[in-house]
Amino acid sequence: MFVYADNAATTKMRPSALEAYVKTAETFFGNPSSLHTAGQRAQEELTRCREEVAAVLGCTPREILFTSGGSESDNQAILSAARAGARKGKKKIVSTAIEHHAVLHTLKKLEGEGFNVVLLPVGTDGIVRTEDAEREIDENCCLVSVMLANNEIGTIQPVEEIGAICRGRGVPFHTDAVQAVGHLPVDVKKLNCDYLALSAHKFGGPRGVGALYVRTGAPIYNLIEGGAQERGKRAGTENLPAIAAMTAALREAVSDLPAYMERVSALRDELIANLKRIPHCALNGDPVKRLCGNVSFCFEGIEGESLLLLLDEKGICASSGSACTSGSLDPSHVLLAIGRVHDVAHGSLRLTLGEDTTEEEIRYLSEEVPKVVEYLRNMSPVWRDLKEGKRQYIL
Ligand SMILES: *Cc1c(COP(=O)(O)O)cnc(C)c1O
Repeated sequence: MFVYADNAATTKMRPSALEAYVKTAETFFGNPSSLHTAGQRAQEELTRCREEVAAVLGCTPREILFTSGGSESDNQAILSAARAGARKGKKKIVSTAIEHHAVLHTLKKLEGEGFNVVLLPVGTDGIVRTEDAEREIDENCCLVSVMLANNEIGTIQPVEEIGAICRGRGVPFHTDAVQAVGHLPVDVKKLNCDYLALSAHKFGGPRGVGALYVRTGAPIYNLIEGGAQERGKRAGTENLPAIAAMTAALREAVSDLPAYMERVSALRDELIANLKRIPHCALNGDPVKRLCGNVSFCFEGIEGESLLLLLDEKGICASSGSACTSGSLDPSHVLLAIGRVHDVAHGSLRLTLGEDTTEEEIRYLSEEVPKVVEYLRNMSPVWRDLKEGKRQYIL
């Protein structure tokens, strides 16, 4: 059996998105900036896509910039607010300890330029406390950035509430909604945000395309200089086939969101209940306030890497945390932030379900994961020490 359970890393393209990609490349091949008919037809198609994406997010088409994906959108949002803040002498930025590296590494760079970056902690449930945000957000802030849903442990953050605090205090607010868009309802007005980042490949669209919502009046700083595309805010000939494919994927993803969420969260809860029977394990993140497809566990006495390799041999594609941290030996910053100690954080497993996940696949995962965990524990000297009482169990 082959089970793809790494939908937080990337999703398989939806057939509707693939079809839109090919059709657009064939039909609207002109450069949208060209004045001739082929160019104008491409321009019209681009406008149609922008209108559709804007309608889904609840904003105007002028507030949507098409980008190369989530990382670029996060970078542009953060640098836009930071550059504008620096001009007014405001150099404080509030964010969280569990952001994606596209946010954290951009903030690190700004710290090197003299910005004061405050990362809010999260509880053991993986959720930021609104009171902590309220205490830190003040008149010196040029930006607050809080992700809508976490990519490793799936927890959903109180973005609406934190956005309202920012709005009340006149502080620009960015949310990385890359894991949320297409998986839960997202409305920029309701979230009180000034910037919102999304990425097509997390909801069945192609890689290398995304969007940034920029509220009218919010500052924009260009990452890429060149032609006048995207109202002069993001140069480069528009990747129209990818934009059309993203739009088609988004349309399909949001067409019946409540039914998708209900179906996938039932599968998620079944898998969580089954894996919880494994001794000395713990679910990472709040059991309820989490993405409908996210299952994240820590198993004591094993190495996440070995677990992934053995699962792969059984046809199961999983992850130990984020695709971006794998390859490094450091444990995930998200797992450390929820209070997992190094050894436990190393024994993590993330299974992320998607549109196509079936009941049969859940049964297969529920049978195979416990077997592999047991197999690895039987070979582990750490596990033997735990069993013989020479070491204390943490979980
Ligand atoms: C995947 C992801 C990103 C990066 O998006 P890309 O399109 O791959 O650049 C940013 N933030 C979060 C939360 C993500 O899951």
